[in-house]
Formats: sequence, C-alpha cells, structure tokens
Amino acid sequence: MYDIIVVGGGPAGLTAALYARRANKTVLVIEKETFGGQITHSPCVENIPGFVKLSGNEFAEKMVEQVMEQGADVEIDEVMEIIDGETKTVVCEGAKFEGKSVIIATGAKHRLLGLERETDFIGNGISFCAVCDGAFYEGKTVAVIGGGNSALQEALMLSDLCKKVYVVQNLDILTGEKKLQELISKRENIEVITGTLVKELKGEVDLSSILLENNKGEKTELVIDGMFVAIGLIPQNDFAKNVIPLNSYGYALADESCVVDAKGIFVAGDCRQKQIRQVVTACADGATASLKACDYVDSLK
Ligand SMILES: Cc1cc2nc3c(=O)[nH]c(=O)nc-3n(C[C@H](O)[C@H](O)[C@H](O)COP(=O)(O)OP(=O)(O)OC[C@H]3O[C@@H](n4cnc5c(N)ncnc54)[C@H](O)[C@@H]3O)c2cc1C
Repeated sequence: MYDIIVVGGGPAGLTAALYARRANKTVLVIEKETFGGQITHSPCVENIPGFVKLSGNEFAEKMVEQVMEQGADVEIDEVMEIIDGETKTVVCEGAKFEGKSVIIATGAKHRLLGLERETDFIGNGISFCAVCDGAFYEGKTVAVIGGGNSALQEALMLSDLCKKVYVVQNLDILTGEKKLQELISKRENIEVITGTLVKELKGEVDLSSILLENNKGEKTELVIDGMFVAIGLIPQNDFAKNVIPLNSYGYALADESCVVDAKGIFVAGDCRQKQIRQVVTACADGATASLKACDYVDSLK
C-alpha cells in the first residue's frame, strides 16, 4: 500500500513524487514510455530556471535521479484503469497497485499530421511550441501548420523573430478569433495559405522543405528552416474518465489547486485544463497536487 501513486513520469509527476518523498510519504511513479515525458523530444531547452541550456533528455535524467535519490519507487507500465474506493486500485497492463491517493500527471500529446518521417524530424525542424523553440529560428523562414487560435498565436510570436512566417491551413478559412486574424493580416512577414494540405516532408537529417497541395490539386514546394505544428493536443486521460471529470476536449477539470471532484485523486500538469503548458507550469502543478495529496493522506490517520 503506497501513500501516493503518481501516474505519469513527466515533469509534473516527477515533481509530485519529489515533494511527496520530502514529506516522508511512500511513493510509486508509474510511467508507460519514457521518464521525463514530452520534454525528452527537445534537443535543446533554454527556459528552465537554473539551466542555461540543456537537452530534454539531460533534464529528464536529472529529474529521475533526484526522485530515486529521495527514495521513490518507479515502474514502467501503462495504467489502464483506476478503481476508486476507500483506497485506490491502480490497474496496469502488467500489475495492480494499491494507494491511499493517486496523482494523475499523464500529460498530453501533440496531434501529428500523420506524414512519413514526421517523428524523425521532431526536434530537427519540427516543433510544437514557439515559446520553447522560436528563438532557434531567429531571422529564418518557418511554416505554422493550422489555422485555429494556437496556430495564429504561434505565428504572431514567430513573426517577431523570423524573416518570414507561412501559415498553412487545410480549410478555406482561418478558424482562430477575428482579433487574431486582424493582427495576422497586419504583419508584413506573415503569408496565409488556406485550402492547402502538407503532403510530404523533405530533408536529410533536418527538415528543409515541405510539399503542399491545394484543393485544386496544385502542388508547390516551400523551402523552410522549421515547421511548427499547431493542430491541437490530445490529453492522455482516457483511462481515468470513469473516476475524474473531463471537459469536452478531454482535459481534467481542475484549477490551480489541482483538486478534482473525486476524493483522494489529484491532477497535475498538461493533462489538466489550463492555459500555459510548459515544464515550469507542470512542475508547479506537481508540487501543488503533491502537497494536497499529502494533506489528504494525513487526514486519513
Ligand atoms: C518537442 C517539444 C519541445 C518542448 N520544449 C519545451 C521547452 O523548451 N520548454 C518548456 O517549458 N516546455 C517545453 N515543452 C512542453 C513540455 O515538455 C510540457 O509542457 C511538459 O512536459 C508537461 O509535463 P507533464 O508532466 O504535465 O506531461 P508530460 O511531459 O506529457 O508527461 C506525462 C507522462 O505520462 C505518461 N503517461 C501518459 N499516460 C500514461 C498511462 N496511462 N500510464 C502511465 N504513464 C502514462 C507519458 O508517457 C508521459 O511520460 C515541449 C514539448 C515538446 C513536445
């Protein structure tokens, strides 16, 4: 029986484990793929306080080392279900674990275009975050894929740094807010291309161009230094939908307190409804959720 079981070993989950161990609670972190989460896809991170520059993998290694040093148990397994009761049963693919409380920190995945070699180019020309990676493209040419609010915000941010920004949208219209569309239309270095799909990604190691096809079947090749894919995120909460309330996009319904409408269950990081999804905001959630879970465990005594 663990005091706290953390589902997900990204920045939110590992910070939650760290805080729980510092409060002397027994902790198990269950991760289905790679400890460190999404940040392991980034070859260069420059906005984590205390580190001028490091790779996502280096950061992940430091986080895991720290929680293990503090005495947390870790498991590689996929959590399939949580059975809520007096205690919580966490059902994994290969085993079952009992906990007095559970912190769900399962993050989100960026929706991909589904093109060949797309995952190879992540971190080598494909990015999902102008705040994180925009500075690497200063004075360069980039394409933002998508036409919703996120895509338009990314394009505006990038237009302050880049020589040229293409916005490529599959629909005939942009779907982001009118206000953002107005701002986009005023930027001289942004060109909007609607009714157009990205059909192919080209480049040796780094992405160097994309092949576009419009709805008349006309093809063009766009030479770019980078591509920002902004076609949405998929929160990884499906397995928990029987125990925690989710919004219509699948994010856990919780505010900054990380408390959900289920006793003894807490949520942290990108998997919850929030505006800013970054390492530092995920870590902040991890600390909050953990201290709330510690209070809950203490209240059972
Ligand atoms: C390419 C890229 C570059 C980025 N660059 C930056 C940057 O420079 N700076 C910055 O601040 N942010 C950056 N981000 C965003 C940052 O990585 C995320 O905001 C942060 O990782 C969120 O942390 P999290 O712990 O909430 O979720 P995640 O990092 O998504 O971690 C969740 C973990 O839970 C695991 N999981 C999911 N479901 C289950 C399950 N059922 N059972 C067990 N485990 C499960 C996942 O495998 C994952 O490891 C970047 C993201 C990407 C994709």
